[in-house]
Amino acid sequence: MHSTAIEQQNQEWQSSHPKAILKQALSDHQAIAISFSGAEDVVLIDLALKVVTDKSQLQVFSLDTGRLHPETLAFIDQVRQHYQIDIHVLYPQHQAVEQLVREKGLFSFYQDGHKECCSVRKIEPLRRKLSELDAWITGQRKDQSPSTRSQVAIIEQDSAFTGRNGPLVKYNPLANWSSADVWQYIRMFDVPFNPLHQQGFISIGCQPCTRAVLPNQHEREGRWWWEEGTQKECGLHSGNVIAQG
Ligand code: SF4
Repeated sequence: MHSTAIEQQNQEWQSSHPKAILKQALSDHQAIAISFSGAEDVVLIDLALKVVTDKSQLQVFSLDTGRLHPETLAFIDQVRQHYQIDIHVLYPQHQAVEQLVREKGLFSFYQDGHKECCSVRKIEPLRRKLSELDAWITGQRKDQSPSTRSQVAIIEQDSAFTGRNGPLVKYNPLANWSSADVWQYIRMFDVPFNPLHQQGFISIGCQPCTRAVLPNQHEREGRWWWEEGTQKECGLHSGNVIAQG
């Protein structure tokens, strides 16, 4: 899609329901997949299944970094069974993980920042998956981070990755939903959710890099809490950080 058409579509969708956005996105691309992190973005799967006629055509993938909470792994499998769908779980290259751990240990991110470890455990497998696609769908929302996500578009050209034919379109159907909207949907439609949410975790990532937050603390404060707020993206959505300058 041309960048002008994308911008126009983004404007048109500002007040559209995520279900309508998903319906259009899924019919516009053959090679399109939902990126499922094992957290609240489960609502994307629930919504998408309401608009596809054949659920075997719905592609869902998840990144197992090797450092997820056991609860998150169990939840990914629970979602697979609950909806009777395939979830393509992606793993990092074992040689790269072994080299990183051999050179820097298992917790290098506390000293060196999270970028290197995220690059090995998340970005490489994601890049591999996206190179098979024309478009991907994420659960990013504007209200998730005042530092990096306040400008999230509903549809955008992905500036960080390329697809099977070059340009890659990225859909963020929940961009304008609040956390309250997401949880209202989860309760209303009995959507399964990660039990870590009941333990004070709002934003869920890898175990050593995620912690529960206190009442009135922003959810992103529970991620990479030893780093600056403007750096709190793992690279999956690095365009957000670049956009911050
Ligand atoms: S979130 Fe933490 S453990 Fe997970 S890949 Fe990034 S730095 Fe590594």
